[in-house]
Amino acid sequence: MMTLEEDQIEMDSTEMWYIMTRVQQLKSRRSLLLELQEFLKKNSKEDQSPSDEELNPTLSDPELLEVKDLAFSPAMVQCPTCKQHVTTEIQHKVGKTSFLLCYFSTLLGCVAGCCLLPFVLNYFKDTCHFCPSCHTEIQIVPRI
Ligand SMILES: [Zn+2]
Repeated sequence: MMTLEEDQIEMDSTEMWYIMTRVQQLKSRRSLLLELQEFLKKNSKEDQSPSDEELNPTLSDPELLEVKDLAFSPAMVQCPTCKQHVTTEIQHKVGKTSFLLCYFSTLLGCVAGCCLLPFVLNYFKDTCHFCPSCHTEIQIVPRI
């Protein structure tokens, strides 16, 4: 009877010791994790603030073109009429490029309809940029 009780006490104490050390381990791990969490929070805050500042100009500035820099494809510009930042809509128009090409092809002897090609092919037409919000003509980009 005595031996059994002693055994039990001994077992209890080892178990207690085991639990205590385990609790200690977990406590230290928890504090470590908390420190790590705070460290990560600080880091992410420091990481986010400059990257946001870097992102904002890249989103607004480089894509926005000057009206005079417009090319043959739609681009972001500030509409001179409604002052909004818009992506232009383009239309191909028969401009002086088409007439010039027609004139020269006639001179070269293309009278069998070749001289009409500049009027049909978009490639030879001028590009006209429109504002999608107020529908005014922003800029005509001639081919030549
Ligand atoms: Zn506009």
